[in-house]
Amino acid sequence: MSTILKIAVLGGGESGVGAALLAKKLGHQVFLSDAGIIKDKYHRQLSNASIEFEESQHSNERILACDLIIKSPGIPEKAPLIQAIRAAGISLISEVEYAYRFCKGKIIAITGTNGKTTTTKLCYHLLKNAGLKVAMVGNVGESFAAAVAENGYDYYVVEISSFQLDDIVDFKPFISIITNITEDHLDRYQYNIDLYAAAKLRIFENQDENDHFIYNADDPLSQKYIKTKEIKAQQYQLSLEKPVEQGAFLDDNNIFKIILNRKEDMDINELALQGKHNSYNSLASGVAGRLLNIRKETIRESMANFESIEHRLEPVLQIYGINFINDSKATNVNSTWYALESMKEPTIWIAGGVDKGNDYAQLLPLVKQHVKAIICLGTDNSKLHAEFDGEVEMVVDAADMDEAVRMAYKIGAKGDNVLLSPACASFDLFENYEDRGRQFKDAVRNL
Ligand code: ADP
Repeated sequence: MSTILKIAVLGGGESGVGAALLAKKLGHQVFLSDAGIIKDKYHRQLSNASIEFEESQHSNERILACDLIIKSPGIPEKAPLIQAIRAAGISLISEVEYAYRFCKGKIIAITGTNGKTTTTKLCYHLLKNAGLKVAMVGNVGESFAAAVAENGYDYYVVEISSFQLDDIVDFKPFISIITNITEDHLDRYQYNIDLYAAAKLRIFENQDENDHFIYNADDPLSQKYIKTKEIKAQQYQLSLEKPVEQGAFLDDNNIFKIILNRKEDMDINELALQGKHNSYNSLASGVAGRLLNIRKETIRESMANFESIEHRLEPVLQIYGINFINDSKATNVNSTWYALESMKEPTIWIAGGVDKGNDYAQLLPLVKQHVKAIICLGTDNSKLHAEFDGEVEMVVDAADMDEAVRMAYKIGAKGDNVLLSPACASFDLFENYEDRGRQFKDAVRNL
């Protein structure tokens, strides 16, 4: 048996507890520490595995006496404890890195500003339909480490944020995907998009010639940053605008084509998920599927029967011919851009919340084209008014979700869409984006 290490895990959420379970299973001495309160569910998991833990504090001395420290992605680099660990020169890695070291399966890792969850779920759906033993881990589902501890999978589809990539060392996926790069979460990266992008690009830094990297060739920031890096993995591009040599694109006859080894591999006619953004997500998954030698028929079927995901352009109800659509997960301008772009009918747009330095000007052409009224739903709607007053017939404020939905229903006519796609975080009026989406759906059902 290998040496028994003293391991401290920082953070008692899904990823911290997963890392602690894996470390314990490997026979190490594990101590988990959380500066906040640990949820009951995790208390139970830790106690059942006889893992020592503390909450509402960090016992620095005990932590600094460890051989290895595993950190949850929520803990920022500038936290005093992290600084102390760095100063002491103790090895500090992320949960993803730790799980990777003991992972025996093939990894498909997905990062990007928007579209991670959708692409992760699509890839998982594909692999599952192909009959493979696959786990969906990371930000969706259980943690990567917990799934590795279970040891029953041949494939891991990992949704991975830039924070989780911050502390990787050897993490090396077989297939990596960057969905896109746009401004978000810059508060964690000194308001510097270069640093945020650099974290995302780490997804392929350990890949070699036998690995694969898929990215969006129509996304200017992905293009810009990828060009600055040496990439050893085989590269695959996705485009809805031009043919690609290797990857997937939409041809002149509106057929999606996958090209592998620089020759035509397969056509896909039907995608279940609507919207341009989802075409990129579907193409990325299709290329990944073919790289894993999944049958063309299985890929076609999986793409056609994938069900929409809650809070992401989720159709809710049609009432008197008015379509209500929940896109509460659109927490930045880019994701709302794609939502508005996919609206084919006149749209009443419910927007607003906590703005992360949004530039709404990018939305103006789409708003002029598709939007007949804007209902602002935030505690401070001044930026929305400044941008859109006078550009759209009606820009009004609502105090809560019920009022917003009732207003939208009143303004709406047969054939219109009512789209909740806030372009903002939700914390001013709601607990989180799920709460916001659920309140929207409840309000629609109560009409
Ligand atoms: P993430 O996990 O990266 O936050 P999601 O799949 O949960 O991404 O989608 C978040 C929001 O972004 C939703 O509003 C969704 O409709 C939109 N979206 C999904 N895929 C993309 C994409 N490829 N580009 C831009 N926006 C997207």
